[in-house]
Amino acid sequence: STHTNNLEAFWMPYTANRQFKQNPRMFVGAKDMHYTTSDGRQVLDATAGLWCCNAGHSRPKIVEAVQNQVAELDYAPAFQMGHPKAFELAARLAAMAPSPLDHVFFTNSGSESVDTALKIALAYQRAIGQGTRTRLIGRERGYHGTGFGGISVGGIVANRRTFGTMLTGVDHMRHTHDPERNAFTRGMPESGAEYAEDLIRIIQLHDASTIAAVIVEPVAGSTGVLIPPKGYLERLRKICDDNGILLIFDEVITGFGRLGSPFATDYFGVTPDLVTTAKGLTSGVIPMGAVLCAAKIYDAFMNGPDHMIELFHGYTYSAHPIACAAALATLDTYDEEGLLTRAADLAQYWEDGLHSLKDCPNVIDIRNLGLIGAIELSPIAGEPTKRAFAAFLKAYEDGLLIRTTGDIIALSPPLIISKAEIDEIFDKLRKVLTSID
Ligand code: PMP
Repeated sequence: STHTNNLEAFWMPYTANRQFKQNPRMFVGAKDMHYTTSDGRQVLDATAGLWCCNAGHSRPKIVEAVQNQVAELDYAPAFQMGHPKAFELAARLAAMAPSPLDHVFFTNSGSESVDTALKIALAYQRAIGQGTRTRLIGRERGYHGTGFGGISVGGIVANRRTFGTMLTGVDHMRHTHDPERNAFTRGMPESGAEYAEDLIRIIQLHDASTIAAVIVEPVAGSTGVLIPPKGYLERLRKICDDNGILLIFDEVITGFGRLGSPFATDYFGVTPDLVTTAKGLTSGVIPMGAVLCAAKIYDAFMNGPDHMIELFHGYTYSAHPIACAAALATLDTYDEEGLLTRAADLAQYWEDGLHSLKDCPNVIDIRNLGLIGAIELSPIAGEPTKRAFAAFLKAYEDGLLIRTTGDIIALSPPLIISKAEIDEIFDKLRKVLTSID
């Protein structure tokens, strides 16, 4: 059809992918749990877009709020002035977040939230006389977006090695101090506070007085759903507290109901110093992110010693009125439909369905929490990612959208999913997994 002809000229990221060129997959519409493809098929969305459309697609209330906002106030600068919805949204987020994280910095994406949080952490350390603390610590297989901050603290070497010098002094924790067991995957114990001891190794290596902050995803999503054992995040918190290190939770995926609570900090009962969010904040409708932190930390950044003279941080589109309107309507939708706790209600049903696939061919591990699931397939020797990609293509043909990362199938459906649709996902996946080599 006409709109697939000239793809190459316009959209290199996709067309660079040979698979896409051979078989372009185009979405032309979306409603609730489904995408409509350019060849007129309905595809059940088991990924909430890219982990973002938590309220489902093109929900009328959110659409209407966006339409009204464009007509009423298209744009307002966020510096030296404001607009009411920015304050309303900040207050809503502050009320949702665990105490004392009641200050909000608005961004336009997860990557910007990560950069912002890292800068706030460094500014705070400096403001309290801890200016030697300039190191940032991430974790192997962490994913924190594509900005220089995010790729520096991110644990995916391939994402940064092309670009030379990154943020200086960054180091990465392993998922355990035991080099034999390097990820929160197969055979993880129920409890495992000791898995956080790798942070002690790093502190001993660099000295605590050089470390500003540690950033982790409470549950790593993009790199394959890595679920921490019980006690791990608590132990990280304790080690950070004992050593004057700030703890940042990157909740770009886990925020806004994915685990059955507003944030993962509620789920795990561990409060970090900063929380980064994006994605589900607007249910994917408009780009927006937000960083949450306590007043004293925020003030060190915005009103600290360097402020007004040297320091400037903010984005042209921080607290964009349309994004604020979309976020407020999204939060209303979450509240009215009980979506922030729905993952908790469905978690057992989801787990039962997911684990019914455990005897399918090539399945070597299954992991889940809230409405997140991962099915790890054994890689074909010498051809990593090929098996999972075959599953992706087959599922797509069968009207099911899944996401793959390496040989791991990751699932994160919109939180409006019904039990019948959960059944459909796993029925389709069972067929897919038994039909691919
Ligand atoms: N942090 C985490 C935990 C993420 O999962 C992502 C996106 N997958 C990002 C940051 C980056 O977000 P964005 O793509 O909106 O920049």
